[in-house]
Amino acid sequence: MIKQRGILYVLSGPSGVGKGTVRKALFERDTHLQYSISMTSRSPREGEIDGGDYFFKKREDFEQLIKDNKLLEWAEYVGNYYGTPIDYVEQTLDEGQDVFLEIEVQGAMQVKKVFPEAVFIFLIPPSLEELKNRILGRGTETEDLVNNRLSAAKVEIEMMNAYDYVVVNEKVEHAVERVEAIVHAEHFRRTRVEKQYRKLLEVE
Ligand code: 5GP
Repeated sequence: MIKQRGILYVLSGPSGVGKGTVRKALFERDTHLQYSISMTSRSPREGEIDGGDYFFKKREDFEQLIKDNKLLEWAEYVGNYYGTPIDYVEQTLDEGQDVFLEIEVQGAMQVKKVFPEAVFIFLIPPSLEELKNRILGRGTETEDLVNNRLSAAKVEIEMMNAYDYVVVNEKVEHAVERVEAIVHAEHFRRTRVEKQYRKLLEVE
């Protein structure tokens, strides 16, 4: 029997909206999802683990990965590279397992070109003011970086129309529940399952 390919989910949205928090809370639940750990050229923040939060790479090593077509998508975001290793995604989907990406919008649009059947979920802040408070609250960025991230966020919010679902991140637990509901529901999308039920029509 041919194994059904896994579903690719892409969680995206402006920096500071809480994608990481929502993704972590989602993975604390009993999901069947496989998280694709990204590569980045930025330095680790305090407490971040290489191979857990990201694969931390030197700029030149990252550029080599781009040249060697090792990335499904990549983006330069506020001065650093971020990208998704392609082999992990392809292999995991081929094994019939669902893969979850947490990436910014430029990268998500590249994924859409390669995997148009992927599920695109946009996490949106309740307001821009709230977004600024969250970025400031993280306390890891200089004022210049906060402003860069806010202008990037405005451009990113305009990209919402390229997504299948929009989830507001007002309360993390509600956002997680909604993302989880989307993940479940996608398994019953007609285009994914109809082949398997077509055989009902073959009965006399
Ligand atoms: P941070 O530096 O705050 O960890 O991440 C900055 C932005 O890069 C966030 O919006 C995050 O979701 C995004 N990001 C993380 N990994 C990837 C990736 O593999 N590809 C792309 N395009 N963006 C990523």
